[in-house]
Amino acid sequence: MNVILLGPPGSGKTTQAQLLAKRIGGLTIATGDLLGDAIQGNTELGRKAREHMDRGSMVPDEIILSLVEERLAVPESVAGVVLDGFPRTVRQAREVQRMFAAEGERIKAALLLDVPEEELVRRLLAKAAAEERSDDDPAAIQKRLAAYRGSNAPLVGHYRELGVLKIVSGTGSVEQVAEAVKRAIGG
Ligand code: AMP
Repeated sequence: MNVILLGPPGSGKTTQAQLLAKRIGGLTIATGDLLGDAIQGNTELGRKAREHMDRGSMVPDEIILSLVEERLAVPESVAGVVLDGFPRTVRQAREVQRMFAAEGERIKAALLLDVPEEELVRRLLAKAAAEERSDDDPAAIQKRLAAYRGSNAPLVGHYRELGVLKIVSGTGSVEQVAEAVKRAIGG
């Protein structure tokens, strides 16, 4: 079973992606982590990706797709994958569909975790305080949320057209949201 988790920063999508992957015995594909590993390992893809990340820009689709393709080749992916932080562009979305189709697989659902903006700001400020990151102030958070809205809207449209989009409430406890995720994908 292959599921995509969409949602703004602070929506808890990484937590839910990990819980869901564990439940289905599959794995998560978090492109932020794959990039971190590639940079740490000083691989060719990692070095290329770093140039873009150092400038604060998105990493080109080719690099992201190569990392995802490598990760999809591991045996645990057979039970299912939960995508976290990927796709971020419609091109990435189309390409991952193609990769799944080549294996006779498809995307079962794209879940959009819905959390009101005031709650997101509250969560992100609390996280910044806990991590003692004074650079993550209200203005920086608003900027991140605005960037997310811009890039996420076309993806939501894409998955709505595919007929797999489901909106799940991301408020409440981790367990309550996990339960809502479970219901949305049919138990
Ligand atoms: P994240 O940990 O998901 O916030 O990702 C950290 C950074 O990695 C982002 O700011 C982007 O520069 C890059 N990145 C992660 N995932 C992607 C993606 N799917 N497409 C392009 N860039 C990405």
